[in-house]
Amino acid sequence: NREIRLASRPTGEPTPDNFELTTVDLPEPAEGQVLVRNTWMSVDPYMRGRMDAGDSYIEPFSLGRVLEGHAVGEVVASRNADLPVGATVLHFAGWREYAVLDDATVVDVSIARPQDYLNGLGQTSFTAFLAVTEVARVRPGDIVFVSGAAGAVGSAAGQLARLYGATHVIGSAGGPSKARLLTEEFGFDTAIDYRAGSLTEQLSAAAPDGIDVYIDNVGGSHLEAAITALNPRGRIAAIGMISTYNAPVPGPTNLYDIVLKQLILQGFLVTDHLDRLAAYIPQAARWLADGTLRTQETVVEGLDKAPHAFLGLLQGTNTGKMLVRL
Ligand code: NDP
Repeated sequence: NREIRLASRPTGEPTPDNFELTTVDLPEPAEGQVLVRNTWMSVDPYMRGRMDAGDSYIEPFSLGRVLEGHAVGEVVASRNADLPVGATVLHFAGWREYAVLDDATVVDVSIARPQDYLNGLGQTSFTAFLAVTEVARVRPGDIVFVSGAAGAVGSAAGQLARLYGATHVIGSAGGPSKARLLTEEFGFDTAIDYRAGSLTEQLSAAAPDGIDVYIDNVGGSHLEAAITALNPRGRIAAIGMISTYNAPVPGPTNLYDIVLKQLILQGFLVTDHLDRLAAYIPQAARWLADGTLRTQETVVEGLDKAPHAFLGLLQGTNTGKMLVRL
């Protein structure tokens, strides 16, 4: 039974040295508890923030302690009648091969695969859904721009924007193969490779009539380009700012345009809406089954490679959701 601990806090970009793989005794469940063998775990950009000291909306990881995050596993020993042996469960004790838990959510593997609960039926998909329907409020006729568009949130956001009536959906991602994926797999009308040249110029060419909505996963220069492209009374859903997570980047220099164009910018944390995730899951399962929502996953094998998966996520080695199979 192995687990990954936080060995040291990073300065700037994390490195493998910030993580430590340790072997620990297989724990025994007490009355009311279950032992779960984890089969899949999620690595997510917000974990970068948790590697730093200092409070955010979620507390920092503790030095020398096992990390945590979403995982799916199978109950292998149970002293809890609600969580029988053999059940597939979703919980927050990732970064370890086995976990003893007081509580977990049983997931229905007849409607989707276990790993879908970390992707198309999980928090990234739900974030995209809320960004499109409640934060940016995409409506018929909108021209929508999504950054981080080849990733888990962005790929779902582009498809859901289309579903909710957008007439033109533009996505940006790093590199030509990701750009191709946007149009060929995820149904974007236009793809921008932000590494290939000026984002502002590429966005202006993709949307000569401007954009109405920007779904921001990246921040920094992406946000600046979007503010320039937005039409009066345009809406920005500020979901994430991954370009700033390792180190500050210069902020947009055109924030006064928010005033002049009377833009609406709204931040959003999915953690404030998790009471509604259970209701989203059956809907998302239908969308996955009928092809309305297509997802991809990049799978890294083995707990020992989980830090590598996380570091890769920050560098963009994933398309769709980055997952670790344990
Ligand atoms: P992704 O699957 O999108 O993976 C991260 C991607 O970010 C990489 O693949 C990479 O793609 C891109 N990236 C990394 N560095 C940069 C950079 N400097 N500039 C532009 N792109 C970069 O992750 P998620 O879908 O899980 O998360 C996407 C965003 O959504 C993150 O900002 C995350 O924090 C946020 N989020 C927010 C939530 C909320 O409640 N507000 C909930 C969940 C996620 P590329 O190769 O294209 O650069």
